[in-house]
Amino acid sequence: MGFPDFKPPQHVIDEMMAAVASDNHLMHQYTRSSGHPRLVSALSRLYSPLIGQQLDPNKNVTVSVGAYGVLFCAVQGLINPGDEVVIIEPFFDCYEPMVKVAGGIAHYCPLRPTKTEGVTSSKDWILDPKELESKFNQNTKALIVNNPNNPLGKVFSRDELLMMADLCKKYDTICLSDEVYEWMVYDDNKHIKIASLPGMFERTVTMGSAGKTLSATGWKLGWGIGPEHLIAPMQVLHQNCTYNCPTPVQEAVAGALEFEIDQMDQPDKCYFFSLAKELQPKRDKLAKICQEVGLSPVVPEGGYFMMVSTGNLKTDLPDDGTDDPRDFKFVRWMTTKLKLAAIPPSAFYHQEHKHLGENYVRFCFIKKDETIEAAGDILKKWF
Ligand code: PMP
Repeated sequence: MGFPDFKPPQHVIDEMMAAVASDNHLMHQYTRSSGHPRLVSALSRLYSPLIGQQLDPNKNVTVSVGAYGVLFCAVQGLINPGDEVVIIEPFFDCYEPMVKVAGGIAHYCPLRPTKTEGVTSSKDWILDPKELESKFNQNTKALIVNNPNNPLGKVFSRDELLMMADLCKKYDTICLSDEVYEWMVYDDNKHIKIASLPGMFERTVTMGSAGKTLSATGWKLGWGIGPEHLIAPMQVLHQNCTYNCPTPVQEAVAGALEFEIDQMDQPDKCYFFSLAKELQPKRDKLAKICQEVGLSPVVPEGGYFMMVSTGNLKTDLPDDGTDDPRDFKFVRWMTTKLKLAAIPPSAFYHQEHKHLGENYVRFCFIKKDETIEAAGDILKKWF
């Protein structure tokens, strides 16, 4: 699964300890529904320069229970029954059911690989602009994009984002941009926020996650950044579903973000940058292992997952009595027989496109080196 098997940075843990041990009794009580004041201030300080807008902490920022909660508030708060939504595939799997629950109608446009042999890159997976435009019409309310993408690790280029932005403007749609892996970008790739492109702030909700940013997924705190007319309905949703997120978690995340913001001009000391530096050799180690055993990795430009092609494998999969796609059978066999777990990527596609994911598995590399090596030992034994 997508979480580290190591601890968050010590200062992040210390912030939580300090919040809980504080003499301030209010640390244990409800706080502001749309975000603890210290946290929304830190978030507006962090994102104002990144998005290129002076963000009002109370009006342009909202928080919820992880990026999951923020996605829910965005989809439920902004999509009405009958609204159409364009989702880029492969997509983080909750987008489809969330749109359905809101009564929306989703249309799917897959990234397609331009190369399939040998070691490839997530850069080789591209959208066909005409195909993407064919999913839009006058009823389209939103485009949902995940950048960097889970499970592929694609980091969309400026040109790709401009193409999507032009469609959002042409069809007057909003953009829900899930950017939980925003800091995990490798090589010379650059993560560009679609909200920072001309004319996009007014129509974009940018979503982030403390769990992903600080390697503390169990803390379940996420945020949405955007114009007041999109953030306000999300705040109403959150207020009436959850009311507020845990106060000590918000206080600790605020303290941790303030610390990192102060270190941003010293990339070696700032976790936003040092985590990516730590992850890149892990990505390369996993890619090398896969190649050694005859599996073809799609080397990700960002995120902490790797899609690996299993299409060439000769191994006969036992009949497990299901009609599940091949990757489900493969992963079930690998998990139970080899004791190595992965995620079947067809789960990240709509029904009619599941075949696009079924010759892959998704591995996660935000793991200790010894964990990746132990996975390598298993793979080397079997393949
Ligand atoms: N979006 C994407 C693309 C994710 O991969 C995840 C977690 N796997 C989330 C959102 C949810 O983030 P959180 O843990 O903050 O709810």
